[in-house]
Amino acid sequence: MRFNGFTARIPLLVIGVTLGLLLSPGTRPARANDAPLILEVLTTDVPQGGTAFLLVDAPGANRITVQHGEFSYPPELRLGSQWEVVMGVPADAPAGRYELLVEAETDEGTREARTAFTITKRAFPTQRLSRPSEEEQYAAPAARGETRLIATALNRVTPRRWHGGFARPVAGDLTTDYGTQRLRNGKEVGRHAGLDLAAPRGTPVYAAAAGTVALARPLTLHGRTVVLDHGGGVAGLYLHLEDFAVKEGDLVIPGTLLGHVGTSGLTPAPHLHYALYVHGTPVDPGLLKEVPDGW
Ligand SMILES: [Zn+2]
Repeated sequence: MRFNGFTARIPLLVIGVTLGLLLSPGTRPARANDAPLILEVLTTDVPQGGTAFLLVDAPGANRITVQHGEFSYPPELRLGSQWEVVMGVPADAPAGRYELLVEAETDEGTREARTAFTITKRAFPTQRLSRPSEEEQYAAPAARGETRLIATALNRVTPRRWHGGFARPVAGDLTTDYGTQRLRNGKEVGRHAGLDLAAPRGTPVYAAAAGTVALARPLTLHGRTVVLDHGGGVAGLYLHLEDFAVKEGDLVIPGTLLGHVGTSGLTPAPHLHYALYVHGTPVDPGLLKEVPDGW
């Protein structure tokens, strides 16, 4: 599939709104605070399941928030007046304009500006399940504890450690793609949140990017599970491992051995389930192999 969205940096998109417009004349702020919010959307077109990148230049800001409707994307890295924001686009997000409201808090008040990017439609495969469903077992009450454990590890907020794209962690065959709609008896039972990569038992599994091992535990349904906190809002999930080559708290770099492909947990054949989450939203790892220049 052609990779959209990261081909070129685009010019500054939005001229900010100054604080002066938001306050009454009597409370007009000092000049430094009139600096505009400058928003640079590095990804103007993002496919469903893709990741959007936004730079916010907010002189004098102590804190910024980026909102889409009810959802707030925390910025993860601040360099001087510049803040980086990554946003995961769900596979089911409607195609079309994706509006963002950016607010910057300064000592004197709040400035805001708006921008948008476009979500483009993708065709996802469909998979009909004939064998007893795994989803049912993952949804059983016994699974909730481990699902919660994984979710907590996936949602840590730490400074960004990853630079550049996310490499494929194992040499294997893609058997179930991201976003695959699963049907059981003709009824939709959810989308596949990652990539299933089939490989012989014992095939090495490597870290896709730098990060910290947030979880490395044997779990009943998910099998031996590793969560990498890559920082900057991105986390990686590796399931069904044969063994562990890392422990919780370890720092990893791209290519660090995490363990080997196995059949632990609920899986009919040796494979790695590999998924990437951006602020808790599963995104297509195939689209994060490349990121904007310098990110
Ligand atoms: Zn899977």
